[in-house]
Amino acid sequence: MAIILDGKNLRDKIFENLKQRLNNMSEKPTLAVILVGDDPASQIYVKNKKKTAENLGINSIVINYPSDIPENVLLDKIKELNNDNKITAILVQLPLPKHIDKFRIIDSISPEKDVDGLTPYNSGKLFSGEEPYVYPCTPKGILLLLDEYNIELEGKHVVVIGRSNLVGKPVAQMLLNRNATVTMCHSHTKNLSDITKTADIVVSAVGKNIIGEKMLKSDCVVVDVGIFKDINGKICGDVDFASASKIAAYISPVPGGVGPMTIASLMLNTVELADSKRLR
Ligand code: NAP
Repeated sequence: MAIILDGKNLRDKIFENLKQRLNNMSEKPTLAVILVGDDPASQIYVKNKKKTAENLGINSIVINYPSDIPENVLLDKIKELNNDNKITAILVQLPLPKHIDKFRIIDSISPEKDVDGLTPYNSGKLFSGEEPYVYPCTPKGILLLLDEYNIELEGKHVVVIGRSNLVGKPVAQMLLNRNATVTMCHSHTKNLSDITKTADIVVSAVGKNIIGEKMLKSDCVVVDVGIFKDINGKICGDVDFASASKIAAYISPVPGGVGPMTIASLMLNTVELADSKRLR
């Protein structure tokens, strides 16, 4: 049976360490989260982020807008937050309503306050192999989890499924920067299972149940990023955990794997942005 990549356990360790770092900070960082609309999942995510920040000693403010907010109102608010010396980190909860250009919104966040590392400045740094202010939260959480279990990346064949700016592309680049051999797959990939069968590590960020044991090589590592509800309302990942855990050497569960690592990375990034501000 596979060893579980336990994101909750590592998150708790990271939080213990962060609490100490925050205790030693004379000025607590402030995380500003912008939430547009009333998507129930986004509302839960934002509530959890606020609660977690406050439990750790990070100030947090949530700015709510109705889904029909004009784009320029959002841009003005981000400009105000960029110029507000009390704000350390800015997160715009995605997805945004269709009438809003998400690229324009993300581009307007100051790179030194861009807590999810998604601005062109920070992603450009990542893709050129330089240090961004911070790395995107979910990819950073995935690498922290693999490192916690001493999973070797150098020279390993990693298959990343999904090519979003939020997860697939940055995690692939971070793995490449760590000298993995990375193959990227997406909805147009032919014969996905022929590719995944050659993987030492599979990172699946799709949001559909697409990976079963027959698609995996013995003793591989499986990182399941996907989260969605099945028809019975049960939270699922991309991977059929019961069968895959019989063949894999390591596997991350859903829930309890990458999800807690994403929130841990968000808190880490907020503190890192505060530290980098002190040094500027
Ligand atoms: P996204 O923007 O919807 O991207 C999904 C990707 O999956 C796309 O690149 C798409 O390909 C690809 N895809 C769709 N069907 C496929 C198939 N049958 N075979 C292979 N590839 C396929 O999603 P995302 O934002 O990256 O999120 C992905 C999943 O991770 C979602 O379930 C999301 O809820 C979850 N997530 C979890 C966390 C966490 O903290 N655990 C954080 C972020 C996201 P195309 O590009 O060709 O369309």
